[in-house]
Amino acid sequence: MAYRIPSDTEVVKAIRDILDRHGVINSQRKLTALVLRSLRRHDSDYTVSQERVRKLALSNNLATIEIRCRDTKDKTSAGACPVCGGRTERIRNLTVYGGSVTMGYKCKSCGYWTGLKNRVPILYIFSPKE
Ligand SMILES: [Zn+2]
Repeated sequence: MAYRIPSDTEVVKAIRDILDRHGVINSQRKLTALVLRSLRRHDSDYTVSQERVRKLALSNNLATIEIRCRDTKDKTSAGACPVCGGRTERIRNLTVYGGSVTMGYKCKSCGYWTGLKNRVPILYIFSPKE
């Protein structure tokens, strides 16, 4: 199947239009479907992934995002933010002995956080930024 990749500029413009028209969009799949429909008016072979739409919306300051997560039993490992790809920082707690322990990790750009048991994002709610 033929497909083409739209430029960042085109995707960003489509996301902005959709958020303007629809306001809060309560799932990433829905946002991506609407963005794709808008893009395909220009080129019916365009395709875009949910992850790309989410990351472009965040990196271009188009939306604030509310993240619903599922708790898992897996240990969290330090690394890039699974939501926006940004850097995560340790959440530390001081101990009575004067040291500190890591309680989890938090992303400064999008607000995602996890404890020592990994929290996996399952739902994203996008609200347009003023
Ligand atoms: Zn993030």
